[in-house]
Amino acid sequence: MSDTSTTTDFGAIVVGTGFGGIYMLHKLRDELGLTVHAFEKGGGIGGTWYFNRYPGAKSDTEGFVYRYSFDEDLLQEWDWNSRYLDQPDILAYLEHVVDRYDLRRDIQLSTEVTGAVFDEDRNIWRVRTSTGEEFTARYLVTALGLLAKTNIPDIPGLGSFAGALVHTNAWPHDLDITGKRVGVIGTGSTGTQFIVAAAKMADHLTVFQRSAQYSVPSGNGPVEPAEVAQTKERFGEIWEQVRNSVVAFGFTESTVEAGSVSQAERDRVFQENWEKGNGFRFMFGTFSDIATSQEANEAAAAFIKSKIAEIVKDPDTARKLTPTDLYAKRPLCNEGYYETFNRDNVTLVSIKENPITEITPDGVRTADGTVHELDVLVLATGFDAVDGNYRAMDLRGRDGVSISEHWDEAPTSYLGIATAGFPNMFMILGPNGPFVNLVPAIETQVNWIFELIRDAERSGGGVVEATQEAEDGWTATCQEIANFTLFPKAQSWIFGANIPGKTNTVMFYMAGLSAYRQKLAELAAADYAGFARTAGAPGPSRLPGS
Ligand code: FAD
Ligand code: NAP
Repeated sequence: MSDTSTTTDFGAIVVGTGFGGIYMLHKLRDELGLTVHAFEKGGGIGGTWYFNRYPGAKSDTEGFVYRYSFDEDLLQEWDWNSRYLDQPDILAYLEHVVDRYDLRRDIQLSTEVTGAVFDEDRNIWRVRTSTGEEFTARYLVTALGLLAKTNIPDIPGLGSFAGALVHTNAWPHDLDITGKRVGVIGTGSTGTQFIVAAAKMADHLTVFQRSAQYSVPSGNGPVEPAEVAQTKERFGEIWEQVRNSVVAFGFTESTVEAGSVSQAERDRVFQENWEKGNGFRFMFGTFSDIATSQEANEAAAAFIKSKIAEIVKDPDTARKLTPTDLYAKRPLCNEGYYETFNRDNVTLVSIKENPITEITPDGVRTADGTVHELDVLVLATGFDAVDGNYRAMDLRGRDGVSISEHWDEAPTSYLGIATAGFPNMFMILGPNGPFVNLVPAIETQVNWIFELIRDAERSGGGVVEATQEAEDGWTATCQEIANFTLFPKAQSWIFGANIPGKTNTVMFYMAGLSAYRQKLAELAAADYAGFARTAGAPGPSRLPGS
């Protein structure tokens, strides 16, 4: 006889312990009273901030809004002393949160979830791990990270390199590049941060650039205790503003179109924001249409190009560093990116003009026959973003359909949170979630998932499942919004264009956090429209104490 018992090892299993998994574990365990177990494949908690230990790794969201907002005491207690947070500081913060809420006892580190299958007879999830264990739970929450599955480029001879070959997302804890001959492939957010820091440490740094980048100053610098105190006093209004803004970066987005003012005024505004610093501020705080109008975009691009010409001394290096495409990737900011190429110990190789032909034991050979000799080769080549970690798992919903089969054409979801055929499974930062500062997006999703699970538990459990119709509708909405922007026209991870063979598709909701939150509130008020819900066992609420 088949087992139809609804008894499970845990109320919920959470996969991943970055910002998303940590907060979800706390909410479901401490506020809902479920038994919860979290799995983390890394040797420590922190996700992004555990793995990315490369020199220069830091947030590009300003530190005062790159943190949780749910704990008002913590907001008052936790200090910071620079405008952006360095990787060790963010990791220390997350470690503190885990200890503060005594979460460690329910986190199993160094354990990858290798498979999860929905058992339709019992309406439960069966979860398998790399440690050979199997556990059951009513709910599965996947907080796998959208920038967490490493992209290793397919370059001939890569394995033959005799020095240290590292990807920035797996930076060895003990690797020191001081005084070494270092090469880096990739000039995205990661590569540019690394280049600025590594140039000051390495004996020589060779940068292998495929696409030139638009980078503006970050404006990083010390923050005095008095400013920290003032910010703490204003946290109430700050979070209110963040939640009601578009990109949620802690500044007010512009409502002025670039074409509505004179060239002189445009340049004044660009200069003012160049001096203030921050990539999102430059794209969204200068004018309202940089990411949507070709003309406005070209004006911003022209301003940045004029800065490259002004800053970079060698004309050929300046030419190579000057982008020729739209300014429509995730906007970068750095502490002196273009200035770094004026240093004597930095060489720029444009691999569009002079491609890499192979990696040899000694270094990188380019088409002109040169072998660039290296001790350390750094791959800052990014991620198989958004759905990469989902496909890496044997994740199966109804009828044994795998997530890769369900996402055969492209990764989709309802609200970035749920996907049809995968009942009682909730994703944090799943496909087509908001393209914003991610910590407030994570908090928004976790709070909403928490309320949905609470609602389900109060009515005796059962299953909650996004309908295919709702998922298709959300995908169409995301596509429509994205098409209104210039982002699909640039080749980047945002649309999956960075991975050879990956479908180029919409992967984000680009209408901003405020609109997203409003939509979530409307749907919750409409009894979670778009979700099919079946009742659980009759009887009282399953929640303790209610
Ligand atoms: P992650 O932190 O990626 O955590 C996911 C966790 O899931 C990982 O620990 C992973 O090991 C684990 N996992 C995945 N699959 C499995 C499995 N099968 N079994 C067990 N465990 C699994 N965003 C911003 O908004 N602002 C920034 O300034 C910013 N800076 C960034 C800087 C860097 C260097 C990088 C790489 C990203 C940055 N991001 C930034 C994006 C960042 O990823 C998010 O802000 C946030 O940290 C994501 O948290 P998360 O919990 O969703 O995912
Ligand atoms: P990325 O933006 O995808 O950049 C990857 C870089 O590697 C690009 O320059 C790309 O060139 C190059 N590349 C990829 N494959 C290559 C190949 N086969 N040969 C040569 N070059 C190759 O990845 P990322 O820099 O890691 O950033 C990803 C995201 O993580 C960011 O957009 C951001 O959201 C987040 N992040 C944020 C920060 C921060 O500032 N706080 C720091 C790091 C990461 P092309 O451009 O030509 O494709």
